[in-house]
Amino acid sequence: MKPPVVNLNPEEMPREWYNILPDLPRPLDPPINPATKEPLPPQALEVLFAKELVRQEVSDQRRIPIPEEVVQAYYAIGRPTPLRRATRLEKYLNTPAKIYYKCEYVNVVGSHKPNTAIAQAYYNMVEGTKGLTTETGAGQWGSALALGCAFFKMKCKVFMTRSSYLSKPYRKVLMQLFGAEVYPSPSDQTDFGRKMLEQDSNHPGSLGIAISEAIETAVKTGMKYSLGSVLNHVLLHQTIVGQEAMKQLQMLDEKPDYVVGCIGGGSNYAGLAYPFMREKLAGRLDAEFIAVEPKAVPSTTKGKYMYDFGDTAEMTPMLKMYTVGHKFFTPPIHAGGLRYHGKAPTLSLLVHEGYIRSVAYHQREVFEAGRIFAENEGLVPAPETNHAIKAAIDIALECKKNNEEKVILFNMSGHGLLDLQGYAEYLEGKLVDYEPSQILV
Ligand SMILES: *Cc1c(COP(=O)(O)O)cnc(C)c1O
Repeated sequence: MKPPVVNLNPEEMPREWYNILPDLPRPLDPPINPATKEPLPPQALEVLFAKELVRQEVSDQRRIPIPEEVVQAYYAIGRPTPLRRATRLEKYLNTPAKIYYKCEYVNVVGSHKPNTAIAQAYYNMVEGTKGLTTETGAGQWGSALALGCAFFKMKCKVFMTRSSYLSKPYRKVLMQLFGAEVYPSPSDQTDFGRKMLEQDSNHPGSLGIAISEAIETAVKTGMKYSLGSVLNHVLLHQTIVGQEAMKQLQMLDEKPDYVVGCIGGGSNYAGLAYPFMREKLAGRLDAEFIAVEPKAVPSTTKGKYMYDFGDTAEMTPMLKMYTVGHKFFTPPIHAGGLRYHGKAPTLSLLVHEGYIRSVAYHQREVFEAGRIFAENEGLVPAPETNHAIKAAIDIALECKKNNEEKVILFNMSGHGLLDLQGYAEYLEGKLVDYEPSQILV
């Protein structure tokens, strides 16, 4: 029997990111200025983002070289990551399907997010940025950016939604260890935060509010802002994942029939899927693409494809995307990374045009999938990743019914070792499934 893991040699790590913009089935609708409804000139984004990141945001180049210092930092966090086959899970499910997963949990932050955090910190360092501000929900993005900033000696200010700040103290410690300043959001650091605290001094916070606070701080202090998902340049940096996975599957002489991943803003899924999507768009691959979201935040399954703000305070440009509305109340599911109201514009376009199918699951069923995975594979997945695992299991069971030996590939976007509280509640039977009260579009 073949070993259930494929590793790449360090020299085999891709040296370019893949930009899907020139290959999309139709041009992407540009961000617009909310006041005029006119397309926003890309330079307008340079107030918030490093120039090179803005260039990448709208680039028409299919391949963008990865700078050598970023390559070295990727080595430092354990890239290239392994591709594993879930042979024990296959046996447990008694399925003829082969289930492969890309191991993005192997770094200390425990997710795919450092792939872009490192690149963003690097370009900002090169351009002389004073420091970076950002928001974080569950704390994964905040700890990734804190790590990126530590690598390139940059200041980092993180606004962490208050509910997570209180319930996930170890994420805060991790960020502080990497030298970041962490504030519970809403905070007393910004005008918008103070306004929210006046309304409710125990406000649990939301990603939308934390984004508003991070942007306000960047604009007022001359720091720059950093976003962990949604934007084109973020998805671009994640394509290292799919390019590696493609090489690894080629070494096994396999092609995926299903490419699966969970979607919060869409970056880990796009990172895995876009290099394969390029093959599909060129007619060289006949695979199904499946994006998985929580039923509590059903942007692509129940929301609308329209222009919407990226934040609650309406400070960002408007993006054409699937959204449940920027004032949507996001239920407190444990998959904090999937609580964002919108989805990446390129991913939204591909869903809207029928190239990607989306499905939604409830919290309890995805934690059950996570438990099954943990018991069989010996790994504890992040609550976000459990959504992808649930979909992979459902496909594998479908393959069993039809007796089909299909190849399923999913992104193991993160581990859940700092999310054991969610698992504890699952085991105690205390987890709740949320139906969204109102879709605000
Ligand atoms: C942040 C996060 C996600 C969701 O974000 P995307 O941008 O959609 O990838 C998924 N999984 C993990 C482990 C995360 O930390």
